[in-house]
Amino acid sequence: MAKIFESEFRKGVMVAVVDSGDYQYQQLAPLFTDYGYGFVAPDQKLIFIDGELPNDVQKIVEAHEVGHIVMGHGSTKGVNDEVEADSWAILYLRKAGYSKEADRLTIEFKKRHGFSYNHAKNKPNKIKVLSKIFINGAV
Ligand SMILES: [Zn+2]
Repeated sequence: MAKIFESEFRKGVMVAVVDSGDYQYQQLAPLFTDYGYGFVAPDQKLIFIDGELPNDVQKIVEAHEVGHIVMGHGSTKGVNDEVEADSWAILYLRKAGYSKEADRLTIEFKKRHGFSYNHAKNKPNKIKVLSKIFINGAV
């Protein structure tokens, strides 16, 4: 059965972890292939995660997808959406005590975006989530 729970990163956001034992998995597998390890139905505040992934990766994917919801990303992709979601995820993984996962995503950040997370922090105006945190002090 799919595991469904409220995300520890944000109240009201539900997470469905679907693995190959679920009959829905065959329908969702192509979407996981297209969209990466997880994806989000923003209007429903529902995140789907590939349960075949290791637990630490699932947690990173959950934080990343919650980041998309919190940042108000819609179906039309903004150029900075992925940077913002990763930045949000790194901050909130660390806040929740997932420092190993936060470190891992910080390393991935550079591979995914071509510049480091620290570099991004020095240019907060370019990245919505970072400007909210480092200039306004909240997300
Ligand atoms: Zn994303």
